[in-house]
Amino acid sequence: MTIPLSRPPVDDEIKQAVLAAMDSRQWILGPQCKEFEKELARYIGVRHCVLSNSATAGLWLTLRALGVKTGDEVLVPSHTAFPTIEAICFADATPVFVDADAFYTMDAADAAAKVTPRTVGVIPVHLYGQPVDLPAARELASKFGLWMLEDCAQAHGAAWQGRKVGAFGRAAVFSFYPSKNLTVMGDGGAIVTDDEEIAARCRRLRDHGRLNKDVHSEVGFNLRFNDIQAAIGRVLLRRLDAMNDRRRELAARYGTGLAGLPLELPRERPGARHVYHLYVVRTPRRAELAAFLKERGIQTGVHYPVPTHRQPAVEHFAPSPLPATERLVDEILTLPISAGHTDAEIDAVATAVRAFFGA
Ligand SMILES: *Cc1c(COP(=O)(O)O)cnc(C)c1O
Repeated sequence: MTIPLSRPPVDDEIKQAVLAAMDSRQWILGPQCKEFEKELARYIGVRHCVLSNSATAGLWLTLRALGVKTGDEVLVPSHTAFPTIEAICFADATPVFVDADAFYTMDAADAAAKVTPRTVGVIPVHLYGQPVDLPAARELASKFGLWMLEDCAQAHGAAWQGRKVGAFGRAAVFSFYPSKNLTVMGDGGAIVTDDEEIAARCRRLRDHGRLNKDVHSEVGFNLRFNDIQAAIGRVLLRRLDAMNDRRRELAARYGTGLAGLPLELPRERPGARHVYHLYVVRTPRRAELAAFLKERGIQTGVHYPVPTHRQPAVEHFAPSPLPATERLVDEILTLPISAGHTDAEIDAVATAVRAFFGA
């Protein structure tokens, strides 16, 4: 028996939705896409949603729509998935790497210290499903006149003081990659915003810069979404709150099962609803623990072992050292969690971790 890191759902309701979307014969930006955009915007609590074929594409589209140009600096936590950085580079801007706070998310004080006259915006990342320090991030943006683009790729349904993440910035981006809290069984992404112009520009850019069928007002690209996957997203969006509740239940179960060990457990930021995209523990004995669990059929992961500011691809930006990030990447370990895991699986993981520590 093996316990996977994540187990996305596959069932009859989803299969029926796929078959119906197939039969409709409108496969690209058709009725399923339009409905999914409306439903997702309503769910997050904003006016517009623009689907795209990945969150990476969504970030790039939004940066373009925000008017980012060569030489512009964008503040971004180093401790994130590489695509966040990649989108900044692909939009010809310069990523300015920021250190992590005690919750593994962007340290707003470090970000403020790195503002220069060239800084135009900030991309906080709600990493692992935990909202960033939103009051601090918003204060940073308003103090320095920066736009804020939220990377919500790991945080569908997370909230701060009852308001969903994705509704705080000028715009926000979600990913539907299979392991994410809301998936479409393949690649997919979405931009959400209250800003009509940003939404309109993203819509144009994702479809070859098209004003209408025959007129292209600017050079865009093909970053469209499709109806078969949108149909899956619509089914799973209806289950998202319940799936997140289940993740929270399992996180609490880990909390009980792993209590009292020399192991740092994830904490929920006060005022936040953490949706546990990943359940990340911390120990200096990370490699040993991962090997011990692997022998027992338990999958683990490291998100992420090489901090983005240390990636060869961005060496030329000569990023400065980030002590908190460089320390944590050697000690973090992701344990299995998803709405599809059973209580017994979580208990088996906790028992194995206890055995490792001789408890
Ligand atoms: C998954 C992820 C992305 C990229 O999403 P894709 O849909 O795979 O392009 C970006 N940022 C973060 C934080 C992610 O976890």
